[in-house]
Order: sequence, then structure tokens, then C-alpha cells
Amino acid sequence: MKDQYGRNIVYARISVTDRCNLRCRYCMPAEGVQSLPHSTVLSYEEILRVAGCLAKLGITKLRITGGEPLVRKGIVDFVRRLKSVPGIEKVMLTTNGVALAELAKPLVAAGLDGVNMSLDTFDAERFASITRRDMLPKVREGLCKLLESGCREVKLNIVPLAGINEADFAEIAELARVHPIRVRFIELMPIGCAAASGYKGLAMAQVRDILEEKFGALLPQLSRQQTGGPASYYSIDGFQGQIGFIDALEHQFCSSCNRVRFTADGFLKLCLNSSAGLDVRQLLRDGADDRLLCESIEQAIYQKPAEHFFAQTGNTMRDTRKMYEVGG
Ligand code: SAM
Ligand code: SF4
Repeated sequence: MKDQYGRNIVYARISVTDRCNLRCRYCMPAEGVQSLPHSTVLSYEEILRVAGCLAKLGITKLRITGGEPLVRKGIVDFVRRLKSVPGIEKVMLTTNGVALAELAKPLVAAGLDGVNMSLDTFDAERFASITRRDMLPKVREGLCKLLESGCREVKLNIVPLAGINEADFAEIAELARVHPIRVRFIELMPIGCAAASGYKGLAMAQVRDILEEKFGALLPQLSRQQTGGPASYYSIDGFQGQIGFIDALEHQFCSSCNRVRFTADGFLKLCLNSSAGLDVRQLLRDGADDRLLCESIEQAIYQKPAEHFFAQTGNTMRDTRKMYEVGG
């Protein structure tokens, strides 16, 4: 469907939990995280109803996220059921990889079309420091299983942190030499715990310099206009996969934004940085029939804000939710 600015909304990111088995400094506080009570989190049945409406409105691609989506019980069967919603063509998932050793194969067998795995470092100490958990061995195992699983679309997402993980860029990018995957550098956003973490994001130009010094020229393959998403992609001589860059702040891509988000407690968020949206859980639990549900979602999406207004101070619509509450 089109929103008020004529953007074609075809993609929804659905958070299935705000819980997580890591505590990445830029995303979650170390302690005192108040998880949503289970009763307020949408059930799989409720999400499937919403997915049915989204498909009727022309949304074809869903991404399951969190928190860490793989900590929610029954996720494999949920993927299977989402895939069978008429009109939904692609179901993808974003994960920290901790549970992929066990779940990569079953998820792909259930029909999962793609996995984005977040990985900022291959160094055990840095991993424990960034995520506040000593789980790199599980993540490495998960990555191996993912690469063996036959998953059609694998992306590795790194947040470049100045003075922290520069030494990891080449090692992680190197995986795209031997595997047909995309390794993407995603800029740190001023959301949630980013400021409190003390981390500073690294400009993509610096990331590119580091990679070019190691691997030679990055050759442009797909621009943002061509991908229809926030990433631009490059190839490197001898690599099977590609390198991507996402810098929402440096290169605003709001005019081609094609997505909306649902929090785990059923709030339809129209923009990452805005609190504008619709309480879909309320509608569901007040007994809205499918027609009312679809019409309400359609009207809300139509109102999607023009842009993220990250640069605007005093923006009263800025959302105070943290990244683990939104799903990235
Ligand atoms: N737990 C899963 C994971 O880590 O992939 C899914 C949810 S997590 C919130 C989704 C993505 O958000 C991760 O790739 C993480 O690196 C990213 N993220 C969290 N806080 C961020 C921030 N302040 N700036 C940029 N990316 C952030
Ligand atoms: Fe958990 Fe993902 Fe946030 Fe890290 S980025 S704390 S893995 S939700």
C-alpha cells in the first residue's frame, strides 16, 4: 500500500519478544531491564492475524526480530505458520546467533528465507565487553551452522565502534570471500543506550578505508535506489559475497522507506525514531473483526511520518523506546 507521501510500504518488522540473552551496551542497560509481562506480548495467533491483514494491504516481506527472537519458545513452528499466510512471500529473521547452532537447520526447514546475524567482533574479550556476556563460542558455532544450513540469504551486520572493533572489520568481511553472503556495516544510531554506552560510531568512509587498505578497491554494485532499502553494496575482487553500508544519518533514505514495525506488545510503529503509531493489541483484544483491524492498520500506515528527524532537537514525537524494545 502507499502512504501519504506515495511510498510503497511492502515490509514489516515484527518483534516477538523484548527479552534477550545478551546485553549489548549500545542496545540494553546492564541491569534493571523490565521485561514486558507475558500477558502483554502478542501471542503467535495474534501476530498471525495481523500478518494476514498486512498481506491484504500489500505487505509481502516480514522480518522477525526482538529482543532476541530465538529465545521465544515455538519460534520454528511460528515461522512455518507465517510462511503459509497467503500473500506473504518472504519471512526473514534477525538474530544475535547465540541459539543458531540448534535452530538454524530447523528454521530453514520451516521455510525461513533469510537470516541477518549481528556480529561486531570475533575477539572473545571484545565480544564479552560489547555484549556483557561470554558467549562468543556459541555465536561462532551458530554462524557455522547457519552457513551450512542452506539458508538462501545470509547477512552479517556489524556496528563499527570507534576505537573498539576496527581490528575485526577485515576478519568479518573476509567471510564474504568464501561464502556468498553480505557483510554489512551499520552505523551506530542515537537510540536507546547508544549515548550511555560511551561508544562513538565510526563514519562509513573510515570503514571503507580500512577495508580498501586490506582488500583493494570496493567496486559499486547496488545503490540504495536499486536495493530499495537502506544499504548500498560493493564487491571486492575474488569475493563471492558483497560488502554493504547502511548509514541512515549520513545518507537519509526516508524518501524511499518501505517499512513499518511492530513492537512485541503490538504497537504499530511508523518510523524508527517516532512514537507515532497504533495500539494494535488493544484493537485485537477489544474484539476488532478483520475488517476493522485491516482498516485501522491501513489508516495508520497512511500517516507514516515523512522522515526520522534524528537531527532535530526538541522533536516531541521522538520515541523513547530502546532498540531491544523496537527490534532494530
Ligand atoms: N537480538 C537481535 C540481534 O541482535 O540481531 C535482534 C534485535 S537487535 C535490537 C537488531 C539490531 O539492532 C542488531 O543488529 C543491533 O546491532 C542493532 N542495534 C541495537 N542498538 C543499536 C544502535 N543504537 N545503533 C545501531 N544499531 C543498533
Ligand atoms: Fe540483544 Fe540484539 Fe540488543 Fe544485543 S542488539 S542486546 S543481542 S537485542
